[in-house]
Amino acid sequence: MAVPKRKTSKSKSASRKAQNTKKPIARASSSCSQCGAPVQSHHACASCGYYNGRQVLTVVAED
Ligand SMILES: [Zn+2]
Repeated sequence: MAVPKRKTSKSKSASRKAQNTKKPIARASSSCSQCGAPVQSHHACASCGYYNGRQVLTVVAED
């Protein structure tokens, strides 16, 4: 069975694991047609609750 020749360094494993970090909000790819807020595609809008031109969620005010 093949065995690694060298121990994986802390730097090498840390730089590999750096690829798994969660990216800061770059996933908002489209905007809501109702209110214009950035929404994830195929998800209901979090700020107005609309999806595909109709209201699907009841949005409760936070304050
Ligand atoms: Zn919206």
